[in-house]
Amino acid sequence: MASRSMSLSSATAPNRKEWAFTYQATSPAFNFPDADVILRTPDHVEFRAHKLVLSLASPVFRNMFASPQVPPTAANEGQDWKDGLPVVALTEPASVLDALLRLCYPLKDPQFSLFDQVTAALEGAMKYEMDEARDMLRGKLKEWAEKAPVRAFAVACRYRWKDEAERAARAALRVPLPELIIHSQELEHISAGSYVRLLLYHKACGTAAAYPAHWGDWISVYHNDRIYLNCPTCHSDSSDTSHSFFGVPNRQNARVARWWKEYMDRAGDRLRETPLADVAEPKMVWQALARAMECASCRPRAVAEFQTFLGEFQAEIARRIQKVVLTIDF
Ligand SMILES: [Zn+2]
Repeated sequence: MASRSMSLSSATAPNRKEWAFTYQATSPAFNFPDADVILRTPDHVEFRAHKLVLSLASPVFRNMFASPQVPPTAANEGQDWKDGLPVVALTEPASVLDALLRLCYPLKDPQFSLFDQVTAALEGAMKYEMDEARDMLRGKLKEWAEKAPVRAFAVACRYRWKDEAERAARAALRVPLPELIIHSQELEHISAGSYVRLLLYHKACGTAAAYPAHWGDWISVYHNDRIYLNCPTCHSDSSDTSHSFFGVPNRQNARVARWWKEYMDRAGDRLRETPLADVAEPKMVWQALARAMECASCRPRAVAEFQTFLGEFQAEIARRIQKVVLTIDF
């Protein structure tokens, strides 16, 4: 009867003839002199490890070691046995196995410079049912959500991790919508429905974030005397509908300063495409204030009053985005 170790071995092990001519490197970090098992990777690296440690970290390894093993013979030396130790051939490359073993042994945690490394290690942790390693890698997913939100979202959906999916979707709001339409290997593991939910969430947040840039019903009546809503000099006349700003309470005919309206239009356009765009970034602010300086009435008040306004504007954007719900099917 085939043991689990044999089935793992047979999945990737080259034939005996190849073994005879293949040099096997030994992992420098996992070359314990008291090792009682050798893990061999397809890229020809051997890890001399301990069955006990592997068994404690992984029920898959525990079951594997509990199964009867092929006895050592002269014929299987080098393949199933080496230096008196059983050999288990795995499918993970050395870089992935190194990361997984570091999470099982009391060693420094692996460093991941690429998202592919995280996903490959996570896949191994799930395969070998290494709960501790999985939880640590799940934490890494949160870190990577900011750098690779679509990929992190796909991984979270694959493993049905709601918090991580929501965090990645939220991070995606810092990216323009067209840039979310990318292919990545992680998307192959989730449904089209899950991916479209991410895009629809982003779109809904864009609409919600842009609203306060175009409609003033959220603006407190206390703003009415501020120069950007009440400029006697640079406001547009009532026939110029392109400069109307609707919904300001008690100010149906607000004398909206031209520079402010231009800023709000730009902000609205940006927010629709990138809901978490920084509308108070220096470039946008200085562009608005430079225009304000052209108006004698706005000039002395614009800097202070616009600064106050920006804080309130950002808070309103955040409040509206917060109300948008990501619908996910798990
Ligand atoms: Zn003005």
